[in-house]
Amino acid sequence: MRNNIVHIGAGEWTYEIRAIVEIAEKLQQLGIRTNMENIGDPIAKGEKIPDWMKQIVADLAMKDCSYGYCATKGVLETREFLAQLNNARGGAQITPEDIIFFNGLGDAIQKVYGLLRREARVIGPSPTYSTHSSAEGAHSGQKPVTYRLDPHNNWYPDLDDLRLSVKYNPSIAGILIINPDNPTGAVYPERILREMIAIAREFDLFIIADEIYMNLIYNGQSSRPISDLVGDVPAISMKGISKEVPWPGSRCGWIEVYNADKDPVFARYIQSIVDSKMVEVCSTTLPQKAIPLILSHPKYPGWLEERKARYEKFSNIAYDLLKDVPGIEVNRTNGAFYMSVIFERGRLRHDQTLPIDNDGVRQLVEKLVAEPGMTLDKRFVYYLLASTGICVVPLSSFSTPELGFRIT
Ligand code: PLP
Repeated sequence: MRNNIVHIGAGEWTYEIRAIVEIAEKLQQLGIRTNMENIGDPIAKGEKIPDWMKQIVADLAMKDCSYGYCATKGVLETREFLAQLNNARGGAQITPEDIIFFNGLGDAIQKVYGLLRREARVIGPSPTYSTHSSAEGAHSGQKPVTYRLDPHNNWYPDLDDLRLSVKYNPSIAGILIINPDNPTGAVYPERILREMIAIAREFDLFIIADEIYMNLIYNGQSSRPISDLVGDVPAISMKGISKEVPWPGSRCGWIEVYNADKDPVFARYIQSIVDSKMVEVCSTTLPQKAIPLILSHPKYPGWLEERKARYEKFSNIAYDLLKDVPGIEVNRTNGAFYMSVIFERGRLRHDQTLPIDNDGVRQLVEKLVAEPGMTLDKRFVYYLLASTGICVVPLSSFSTPELGFRIT
C-alpha cells in the first residue's frame, strides 16, 4: 500500500473513553464483573426516559412528518424555537439561520475543527474532553495547544497561561471553553468567562464554547452561557440533547453562531461548515422535531431538577469518599457528571500492583501494562479494572501532564 494514505499522527488520537471498553470486555469474558464508570451515558447508567417523553417520540414516529430529509441546517421550526430561547436571554441575538444541526456534537466537533485552515489552531483546556483535542489534532496534524486548568483552584482556567500562550503563538485563531467541564466537572463563574472573552477580543480570536452541560449545574452554583457575555466577539456555542434530555442515542446536537455578521473571515468559515453540511444533506429529522416538544413540556423543568438533585447527591458522595484518601487530590464537582482525581507527584510507581486472584486476568493485565507508551495512570487504571472491576479513564488521555483518572 502506498503510504500517502496515512495522515501524520494517525493512530495517536485513541479515544480512551471507549478503548478501555474493549479491555473491560476481555476481562468480562474471564469472569470479572465490571462497573463501567468510564462513559458519560446516563442511559447506560440506568436512567429511564419518562413516559411523557417517550409518548412525544412515539407520536412523532406515528406521523408522516419525520421520515423525510430536513433542511441542510436542520428543521426550521426547531431552529426558530432555539433562536427564540437564546434571544429571550437578551445577550447575542441570532436568527434560525445561525443554527446548524449535526449528528450529535461529536459530529459537529469534527466539522468545526475540520473546516479550519490547517495552520489555524484552537487552544483548548488541559485536561480536555478528548473529542475536541483529537479533532483539533487530526485537522492540524500537530499536538494540541493547551491552557492549564488548575486543580488547586477548582480546575478553573489559568488565565495567565492562556494569555501567554495566545500572545506568543500567532497561529492560535480560537479558544475552546468547555463549561461545565468534562473531565473535571468544574463550572466557571461569570468573572472567568468575561476574562476569557476579553483575551479573545484583545487578540482577535473566536470562541468555541461547548455548553452541552449548561443546564446540568448543581450544588447551588451558577454560570452563564457564552451568548450572555460575548458582546461582539465571534463565537460558536455547541449544544445538544445527549446529556440533558438525556437522549445520547438520538445523535443530535447543534451549533449556535454568534456575531457571524461582524467579521467577514469568520462568516466565510461558517459558510464552509454549511457547505460541507450540504454535501452530507442534513442530520436526523425525528429528534430535531422532538426538541421543542420536550423542552417546552410542562414536566421538563421538574424532570431536570430531579436529575440535577441526583447528580449532586452522587457527586458529593464520591467527593466525601475520595477527599481524605492519602495520595490523591479531588475537587467537588458542580456540573456535568464527571470527577477528575489526581495522584500526588511521585505517588505512582512502575512496580506497584493490585491483588488479582485469577491467573488469566493477571496475565492479561501484565501484558497490557508492558505495552510501549504506558503511562503510570493508565497502568493504575488497568490494575484497578482487573482487581475491582471498576472501569475509569486515565486522566493523561485528556491531554494533561497530570496523572489520575476520571470517573462518572
Ligand atoms: N461535548 C462534551 C463536553 C461531551 O462530554 C460530549 C460527550 O460526552 C460531547 C460533546 C458529545 O456529545 P454528543 O453525544 O452530542 O456527540
